[in-house]
Amino acid sequence: MTSVTMPTTFTELGLITPLLARLAELQYQQPTPIQAQAIPSVLDGRDVIAGANTGSGKTATFALPLLQQIRADISSGKQNGKGNFATKLILVPTRELAKQVADSIKSYAVHFNGEIKTVAVFGGVSINTQMQALRGGTDILVATPGRLLDLITSNAIKLDKVNTLVLDEADRMLSLGFTEELSQLLSLLPKQKQTLLFSATFPEQVKALTANLLNNPVVIQLQSADESTLVQRVFTVNKGDKTVVLAHLIKQQQWRQALIFVNAKRHCEHLAKKLDKRGITAAVFHGDKGQSERSRVLDGFKAGDIDVLIATDIAARGLDIEKLPVVINFNLPRSPSDYMHRIGRSGRAGEVLSLIHI
Ligand code: AMP
Repeated sequence: MTSVTMPTTFTELGLITPLLARLAELQYQQPTPIQAQAIPSVLDGRDVIAGANTGSGKTATFALPLLQQIRADISSGKQNGKGNFATKLILVPTRELAKQVADSIKSYAVHFNGEIKTVAVFGGVSINTQMQALRGGTDILVATPGRLLDLITSNAIKLDKVNTLVLDEADRMLSLGFTEELSQLLSLLPKQKQTLLFSATFPEQVKALTANLLNNPVVIQLQSADESTLVQRVFTVNKGDKTVVLAHLIKQQQWRQALIFVNAKRHCEHLAKKLDKRGITAAVFHGDKGQSERSRVLDGFKAGDIDVLIATDIAARGLDIEKLPVVINFNLPRSPSDYMHRIGRSGRAGEVLSLIHI
């Protein structure tokens, strides 16, 4: 990796006025480290691999330069906007992340006066509305892999004109079992394109993908400030006493917004019932919950109406829940990378507690 002098303002990054104006409105004072390091390379059209967690500002890292590239193409008449084509494709592992990324992009694009179209597509909801949204193509498509393949099969969208591919949370995408879908999608993309890959961790699968996919990439690996200042504690408890200890801690510490991880969907409901018997109301969040239920629970948790949320690992990634005071591993995660994702949900001064049987 070559050493770079880090730009400290968004203007120095080479961003154009409509974006700078929006960032000022959003009160982004200065680029985050990943933005400072990656945005100039993305604007230059380079391939980029970045090691970055949710919370690092990675969405803006790809969203801002992509918007700027589209604007330049529109100005030079390159963007024809005809047919069912997408020009920028962002692949994400979960529906929540798809919505979140698309919302962020739309927010960054408000000063382009509606000339840039962004569509999010994901499973679990009706495909028809998404097919309609894709009529006439889209500049930016944010998609989960499975639904995108369905839409391609139905001829609702074509990938032949994609000139930038973003793989967001690549490790999560592969660990959620999207390997097959991903390779199908990659085979449908043009060879010549810019590729940006973001991943919190780099297990072998991601490394293999990276080696095949990226062309002389700029590699950016950040130290996570969050991890270094976190307090991480392990409680060893007698078998059968975990719930008692957990309930005691929740009451004693009076935590607001405690996120508790378990390893299986059915454990969510089971633990919620046990806590309820001890006078603690907890909401549950996992893959079997319908989309509207998941949104409702998440909004309640973010707003502070729900104090205790029990979740499977699907909630560990991609959710824009910032600075949680405490993350609890009721079951230890299955892999070190899942542990990293879980603790990535806690804030700088946060705590991570793991309960282990003795
Ligand atoms: P992300 O890592 O993309 O999920 O972003 C995490 C949060 O940081 C989001 O709520 C962004 O709106 C916010 N954010 C991103 N970049 C900046 C910045 N330079 N200054 C302040 N907030 C930011």
